[in-house]
Amino acid sequence: MKLDPETSPTVYEQLRAQGLSRRGFLQFCTSMTTLLALPAGAAAAIETALKTRARPSVIWISIQECTGCSESLLRSFEPTLEGLILDQFSLDYHHVLQAAAGRAAETARDTAIARNRGKYVLVVDGGIPLGADGAMSTTGGRSGIDILRSAAEGAALIIAVGTCATYGGIPAASPNPSQATGTASALQELRDSGQVKAPIVNVPGCPPVPEVLTGVIVNFIAFGKPPPLDDLLRPLPFFGRTVHDDCPRLPFYNDGLFAKAFDDEGARKGYCLKDLGCKGPVTFNGCTTIRWNQRTGFPMQAGHGCIGCSQPGFWDRKGGFYGRIF
Ligand code: SF4
Ligand code: SF4
Repeated sequence: MKLDPETSPTVYEQLRAQGLSRRGFLQFCTSMTTLLALPAGAAAAIETALKTRARPSVIWISIQECTGCSESLLRSFEPTLEGLILDQFSLDYHHVLQAAAGRAAETARDTAIARNRGKYVLVVDGGIPLGADGAMSTTGGRSGIDILRSAAEGAALIIAVGTCATYGGIPAASPNPSQATGTASALQELRDSGQVKAPIVNVPGCPPVPEVLTGVIVNFIAFGKPPPLDDLLRPLPFFGRTVHDDCPRLPFYNDGLFAKAFDDEGARKGYCLKDLGCKGPVTFNGCTTIRWNQRTGFPMQAGHGCIGCSQPGFWDRKGGFYGRIF
């Protein structure tokens, strides 16, 4: 699946126009190559693609969500996702970020879908409520599931961001009164019938790690397809390992040294947080390798266990966030 070249600037041209140095651009290409677990030579392919291919149109729809995913994604490190999405990737519609409101906003979305049919990246955040004919989340008088279906039919790539958009998340927590579900599940019928042909990539997390979305879109621009996915449609370069695999407390885990309270001597020495409910060993995500907040840290480094936010049903896990699971 290739993006058609258009007259709009390439990502590189836009970055340069914004003052990014050539050196900074090359560093970005190298950083993406590393994050995507590609061989070193792939940096040249990414560089060429970002220099020559038109920016993809990005249409971002929000359904049953708290805006936390957008808030998190806007804080990715340099080049910021805000810069990438808003300026380089050409964000054509976003509930939260766009200036337009009301009927003008709905028209902007429909125009962007029609103009870029077959070529745009559709980003979805929020769960999709199917109960009451979708009436529990509406925008401009249309249900979320109706908007999702019509937007998905013309997409070249669909990315569900956040645990709500991927598995239903907190809106789907028991007893799930709105019958919320994830994007792939909500679109299953249209995918089976061939009306939705675009691949779906799940980027779970509550919130998701910002750089993963950037990486998935860069991979799509460079290679015309998403990165390899696991059986939950998560991109393997970011979800191929558990947060436990790269946790600095792992040596203590291996030695059987566990903190028993968040303020005990063991916790201060960096002992493993398993007995305090850490879900790291069963949670696939890139937190410990990419790290949060401009790559400064992650929960276990700060002294709190992983709550497993990128796994299906994390909210309803028996024992809650602090119950031991093994
Ligand atoms: S703190 Fe959690 S992620 Fe780290 S080693 Fe212990 S169980 Fe694994
Ligand atoms: S460490 Fe665990 S709970 Fe925290 S963001 Fe990563 S996957 Fe989610």
